[in-house]
Order: sequence, then C-alpha cells, then structure tokens
Amino acid sequence: MMIVMKAGATQEQVDAVVRRVESVGARAHLSRGEEVTVIGALGDREHVARLGLEGHPGVDHVVPILKPYKLASSQLRHGERTVLDIGGRRIGGDAFALIAGPCTVETRDQTVATARSVRDAGASFFRGGAYKPRTSPYSFQGLGQEGLRLLAEAKAETGLPVVTELMDPRDLESVLEVADVIQVGARNMQNYTLLSEIGRSGCPALIKRGFSSTLEELLMAAEYVLKEGNESVLLCERGIRTFETAYRYTLDLMAVPVLKQLTHLPVIVDPSHAAGRRDLVTPLSLAAAAAGADGIIVEVHPQPDEAICDGPQALATDDFAAYADQVHRAAELAGKELSRV
Ligand code: PEP
Ligand code: MN
Repeated sequence: MMIVMKAGATQEQVDAVVRRVESVGARAHLSRGEEVTVIGALGDREHVARLGLEGHPGVDHVVPILKPYKLASSQLRHGERTVLDIGGRRIGGDAFALIAGPCTVETRDQTVATARSVRDAGASFFRGGAYKPRTSPYSFQGLGQEGLRLLAEAKAETGLPVVTELMDPRDLESVLEVADVIQVGARNMQNYTLLSEIGRSGCPALIKRGFSSTLEELLMAAEYVLKEGNESVLLCERGIRTFETAYRYTLDLMAVPVLKQLTHLPVIVDPSHAAGRRDLVTPLSLAAAAAGADGIIVEVHPQPDEAICDGPQALATDDFAAYADQVHRAAELAGKELSRV
C-alpha cells in the first residue's frame, strides 16, 4: 500500500504513520518528493488496510501499489525521476552519462590508456571487467584481484569513477574497494543472493537485463537491491534473444520508454553487447539517446583486434572522441545535460 501524506503534513504525523505501519509487521519506506511525502507500506496488504490510515492526521489518501515491484515502481515517486549522483556524476532525469572502457582489464597499459582516452573525450565513468562471465569455462575469466588493482590505478590516474562486474558475493569486499558502481551481468540478473548482497553493501548497482528476461523480471531484480535500502540502481538494456541471427542480440529499444513509464530508476543502453559488431555501435547509440536513455555503456579498446574479449564490438580509442561527440549531441537533442565534472 502507498500512503500519500498531505502537502503540509508534519514530521510528527509522518513518524506516527510509520509507527502504525511497523506495528503490523510491515516495512515503511519513506519517499520525500518535492511536494508530498509518500510512505510505501511493504507487507501484508490486509494488515495495512485494517489500520484505517485514511483518517489519520496528515494522511491525504491510501492507494494500493499495483505492480509486484513496489519500490521500483514509478507510482511510488509520483512520476518524479530518480537522479543518482555517483562521484559527482549525475545520471537520470535530465542528466546523461557515458560509461566507456574495455570489456576486460588485460594489462596496465591497456587499462590506463583506455581510461585516459575516454576521460579526455568526455566520458563520465570508466568501465572494465576484472571478473568476466564467459560462456565457455575455457575462455579467459578475467584477471580477478590483479584486475581490480589495475582499475584502481586507472581511477587514480583519471579521476573517473569505476563500473565493474561482481559475479560472486565472496569477492564483494575487494570489489567494493575500487567500484563506484557494481555491475550485475545479464547472466546474473536473477542471482538473488548476489542482488541482495549488493543491496546491503549500499554500493550503486547497474543491473543488466537478462537476454531472455522480461521487463517485469528486470524490475523485480532491481527490487531485490532496493529492498535492502539501497536506492542507487541503474537498469541497462543490452539486447535480447530473438529469432534473428544476423546480429548477436536484438537491442530492444522499446524497453527504454516503456521502462521509464514503469519505473523512476535511470535506464541506460549497452549497444556493444547487443550488436557484437563495431559498425552497429554508433547508430544504436544515437537511437538509444533519441529514445530517451539516461546513458550509454560502451566498450572501447586501444587495439580492438588484439583484445582478449569482445574485440569485434569494441570501438578503437582513436575513434572514441568522434563517437562521444555524436552521442553527446544526440543526448542534447533529446533534452539531456551531459554529466561531466
Ligand atoms: C559486459 O558488460 O562485459 C558483459 C559481459 O555484459 P552482459 O552481462 O550484458 O553480457
Ligand atoms: Mn564485453
């Protein structure tokens, strides 16, 4: 249930409602908007309904939250967008963020050189995997701890906040030492233990949509993180499986405006993994920006032909500035401000 307070409700009135909600074993989730405070009561709907909060001082009205994802639903925020501020970079609302870097951290030179190039071209975050979810157990699995150390170096060199994937909760502590945003890969989108752990860590989470997952399943994944009190969640469309075989996945751009109706959370797009091909990355990025994406996460490498992982889809660092310029212009056309420091 959602308890909408009157515009002039006092703190005491809000506290009193929270106590009533908690008295029946439900959790009260406070959301302070520009104008009104909304209290999400998460628990047994019957119990909350029986409290008769309609007539309570300061309460305007009580409505059920219709979606199964309560905290992620746009209803909870009355249409207000969540704008995250991560290391001084804003994302969501009217702020657009470009997240760029290699698929995987390979060497110090490759990592730092890529970070410098993307920073100079105006990227707002640096991405790079130390733990890689590979389809084959015989493929390179990432440098692990050493990769995290190289990411820390790139961050110190460039000042860019780091986005990196966590696959196993046992690595959470070491990933937290360098990550400003923890990525949950498409293959782990429904790893509920992992999501809950990241939720408890409080570290911002970037959740990629599973390639066979519905938008509702993606939003339920976000709910696992939000439920732990972590409100910093980004959703990412990265291509889904369809019958088409001419490209790696099908980028579901319709997900962008639809997710933005369903949720207040920022929505970004990954053109690299969807396409699997470098030549499609620019058109897909421009289309994503035009569709209202709050950001793009894209793969870049100094020598894509020599990349250990995902080389065919990586942009060359030499081409990145021109690419970033086009993407930024498209985002501006869509009414966004660029998130830079
Ligand atoms: C990645 O970002 O490097 C990656 C493996 O992405 P996804 O989980 O979307 O396949
Ligand atoms: Mn990759």
